[in-house]
Amino acid sequence: MVFLPRSGKKHRVKTRTRFAPSPNGALHLGHAFSALCAHDFAHSNDGDFIVRIEDIDGTRSRPDHISGILADLAWLELNPDAPVQYQSAHIGRYKSALEKLAALDLLYKCTCTRGDISAALKNAPVLHGPDGPQYPGTCRNLSIEANSGFCWRMDMGKAVALVGPLRWNDLVAGDQFADPVQFGDVILWRKDAPASYHLAATVDDALDGITHVVRGRDLFAYTGIHRLLQALLDFPEPVYWHHPLILDGEGQKLSKSKSAPALSIQRLAGGDGRHLINNLRQGVLPLGISLSDT
Ligand code: GLU
Ligand code: ZN
Repeated sequence: MVFLPRSGKKHRVKTRTRFAPSPNGALHLGHAFSALCAHDFAHSNDGDFIVRIEDIDGTRSRPDHISGILADLAWLELNPDAPVQYQSAHIGRYKSALEKLAALDLLYKCTCTRGDISAALKNAPVLHGPDGPQYPGTCRNLSIEANSGFCWRMDMGKAVALVGPLRWNDLVAGDQFADPVQFGDVILWRKDAPASYHLAATVDDALDGITHVVRGRDLFAYTGIHRLLQALLDFPEPVYWHHPLILDGEGQKLSKSKSAPALSIQRLAGGDGRHLINNLRQGVLPLGISLSDT
């Protein structure tokens, strides 16, 4: 594959990558490229490629999307080297990790609604992070007795003070300083669903022995949060490769929300998945589609 970075230092353990789609929509070309990067990186290093379905968002995950995703991957001939993993089967893992963080006294219950947060932001200096305004900390020093209707947030200041400065390595972008503080007190356990993406993905990557996290450049900044969770939970540190993104004619990342065409349309119309993937491998992109610079 033309885009593939070199693995860097030799690892004693077998290389293991994962493709981790959320089944809240159909896969598009951007997902095909992401799965291809993870698949080819693993195989070019004699490693294994894993598929993990991130299906813990009960309100958005749908079984028909799961079957569609698996059919698309089979059609693209990007077959996993181990049984497909489902996050919905891993809730116990996430709970244990949450308990460890609670034992470190890093968590607090937050009962704020969106409305509460916007109201509090009107009366406080607003710090902006990559995901928008940071949570203003309303519940940080309250002891809330609620048994339901709350989420768990991590006190970012305390967490960072506990482990000190952290770095992580991206195979293409190089050595990085982890900057989780820019996200503020992130949610680790949600009101309406179990573990947040940050907790679930970090726990699974560690417990499933992922040596190289291969994923899109859009998730680059989140790695600071994941690196912090790894340090707090005594998890090993994977190597990262944040691959470039597939862009549409307007230079925007292909996305479900902007209704990028589903791969299943081509699959169901009898298209050739192997041809599509081989073109991507060689850097041949469909008309109007390009790859981001980083
Ligand atoms: N489920 C996430 C997504 O589809 C995957 C993120 C990751 O690879 O860490 O964006
Ligand atoms: Zn709150």
